[in-house]
Amino acid sequence: MQMPGAQVEEQLAAELADHGLRATRQRVAILNLLRRSTTHPTAIDLHRQVLEAYPNISRKTVYEVLDSLVAAGLAARVTDAGEPARYEPRADPHYHAHCRICGRLYDLPATADGPLRGSATLPEGFAVEHITVTFRGRCARCRDNI
Ligand SMILES: [Zn+2]
Ligand SMILES: [Zn+2]
Repeated sequence: MQMPGAQVEEQLAAELADHGLRATRQRVAILNLLRRSTTHPTAIDLHRQVLEAYPNISRKTVYEVLDSLVAAGLAARVTDAGEPARYEPRADPHYHAHCRICGRLYDLPATADGPLRGSATLPEGFAVEHITVTFRGRCARCRDNI
């Protein structure tokens, strides 16, 4: 992994502080990695990458940092892709399309929330806080390799 430049590091530290988190080196490094990632990495992926710059970070620390980022709203945990939880730097509502061949998770805008709310038959009095949608299948690159 590339170490974040001083300017990026400062900006990430400020964001962490804005979200009520102390800007430890581990948090800055992992938030930076997440922001640069396009793959919705698992904690183990992130641990492997962060070790290149910070050889002493334990896997447990990576999980703790991720928990704190998720709790602070700076990251989200995706648990509906099957297999281990994956992480992403955006916490705004969006859907996923999951390719079962290459495992890639595509981000999609959450445009169906309204219609879904309107057509769902929910238990009486149930307050919806969040809608999770994952489309499963094969992406264009994998469609021909069954
Ligand atoms: Zn694919
Ligand atoms: Zn996503």
